[in-house]
This record gives sequence, structure tokens and C-alpha cells, in this order.
Amino acid sequence: MQIADRTVASFNYTLTNDAGEVLDASAGREPLTYLHGVGNIVAGLEKAMTGKKAGDKFKVDVTPEEGYGVHNPGLVQVVPRDAFRGVDKLQTGMQFRADSDRGPMTVVITGIEGEQVTVDGNHPLAGTTLHFAIEITEVREASVEEVLHGHVHGAGGHHH
Ligand code: ZN
Repeated sequence: MQIADRTVASFNYTLTNDAGEVLDASAGREPLTYLHGVGNIVAGLEKAMTGKKAGDKFKVDVTPEEGYGVHNPGLVQVVPRDAFRGVDKLQTGMQFRADSDRGPMTVVITGIEGEQVTVDGNHPLAGTTLHFAIEITEVREASVEEVLHGHVHGAGGHHH
């Protein structure tokens, strides 16, 4: 069976950046399982998955535009340290939930200088070209319920 809309595919992956550093990998875990065609994985990878079948191995490079987006400077802000009252020890790399005009978002502290704290609301992989090495392990038909819910049930998916 080939990967197409309304199929569920499982795959092993290694994700590296331009420098060849491994950003994420499924090694040592269960393969990732997703419902194809509804944007559950990044667009560029989903496109490359179409038509593949169990046993296929391939590599695909995904641009930021088809990955986690380009880095948006408008999501970088400098806020006063006071905004983090109650936090014991502010450090770069700390993540916080914040309310924005566009709803709740996750921001990460990228710099601290005196009373000024720089926070970045971009996805950590925004602006990164993604290099995937993929091995498809299974392709099956999605159940009607999975299609209606827009996600996978059972192994590797939602339990409810
Ligand atoms: Zn569901």
C-alpha cells in the first residue's frame, strides 16, 4: 500500500541540520505514526512521503518555508525582568507560556542583559533547513474514526 490521503504511515527518522548535527531521531523509540494528508507533520516531509511504501528509505531536504517557518523578527521582544517576577533564577533557554495577540504561545529566553530580557516566540527550528533520513516501516488504511478526528488512534497515536 502506498502512502496517500486517508492512510496511516509509520516511519523511523533522523533529522539533521546543515552542519550535520542530529536535531532529533526516532532511534531507540517506536517509529513515528501519523495520519497522512492533514498536516500532522511538516509540509515538505508530508509531500515527500506521498506514494512511498513500507520498506522504502529516502532522504529529503525541507526548506524553512515548508518546515517550521522562517524566523520572524517580530516574535523577538525585549521585556523587563519584572515580567518574570516569581521566577527564582532566570536563564537563557528557559521556556514560558505567554499570552499574545494570536493566543497562547511558547517563548524561550534567548538573552539576559541587566534588567532586559530577550524572548523569542519563534519555533526553535524556525529558519532551519531540515534534512530528514526516512525509513517507512508500515502503511495501513486509516479508520473512519481516525479520518474524522484528524489523528491516529492506538499504537503511536491518541488513546481516548
Ligand atoms: Zn481521536
